[in-house]
Amino acid sequence: MKIILANPRGFCAGVNMAIQTVEEAIKIVGTPLYVYHEIVPNRHVVDHFVKMGVVFVNSIDEVPAGQTIVFSAHGVSPQVRNNAKGRGCTLIDATCPLVTKVHMEAIRYAMQGYKILLIGHAGHDEVVGTVGEAPDAFTIVESADDVAKLPFTGCERMVYLTQTTLSMDDANVIIDALKKRYPAIKQPPSEDICYATTNRQYAVRALAEDADLVLVVGSKNSSNSVRLTEISENSGCRAYLVDDRSEIAHDWFAGVNTVLITAGASAPEHLVQEIVEELIEKYGGQVDEANVVEEDVHFNLPRSLRVLQGAEA
Ligand code: SF4
Repeated sequence: MKIILANPRGFCAGVNMAIQTVEEAIKIVGTPLYVYHEIVPNRHVVDHFVKMGVVFVNSIDEVPAGQTIVFSAHGVSPQVRNNAKGRGCTLIDATCPLVTKVHMEAIRYAMQGYKILLIGHAGHDEVVGTVGEAPDAFTIVESADDVAKLPFTGCERMVYLTQTTLSMDDANVIIDALKKRYPAIKQPPSEDICYATTNRQYAVRALAEDADLVLVVGSKNSSNSVRLTEISENSGCRAYLVDDRSEIAHDWFAGVNTVLITAGASAPEHLVQEIVEELIEKYGGQVDEANVVEEDVHFNLPRSLRVLQGAEA
């Protein structure tokens, strides 16, 4: 069997930064270290840190006063930040800079009196955090059907923003519907769907047509992993989202000559390699790395962590 490994796949710069932030924070403050929400949406990453003594919380009320708390890559609302400050916690903000960019856009447009239409999934941590920057200014748009139900006349100042991990194709359908109904709607100064999401989707779209089956390594609550699975299926290729090798069913491979493997932006590479090993062991064959897009993006550790390290005043 031929195994194609999509490149790029797996960890993005934001996930690398967030994981390294928790590792460094443990070295400085020890454990228990509190992290608000999963540091990145991956079961293996979370389990690894739980074993090291990290406590993941869904509410700031769960954090004892005065403790150190890390905010995850998805970002948080100002309300969460203020709650944590109010409990005398030390804050380490591992929000991905590309999520922060969307927050900054939201604050700027809200201050200018815009109605902000956020294209994204209601309830997703990133969307909750972004909306929290200016709750009165936001309306969430999840589908093109939602556009017809919007209460605005078009006389308002309107802008759309997008969640960073959407499918470009799905977002474009909604954007087209928004522009059709509200021709004067403003678009963000630069694309909000992030480079890592875009590149992983582009690679899968380019490679899926040569495969009989696509395996996406990632957790079910990872938005960009779910999107990779959908894109493969929309390209006409059967696809499965698996957390690791234990979730693979071997009857999937009957009649399969070529399997494409990719991984969501929060999935560790060792999980991909374990799947490759299992497939080679069972079916033999060759492994090809298919380089579709080169990536060279790196984010510095958060300033709040560097201050704790004593590297910055
Ligand atoms: S997927 Fe994009 S927005 Fe999310 S952490 Fe990675 S680089 Fe940042």
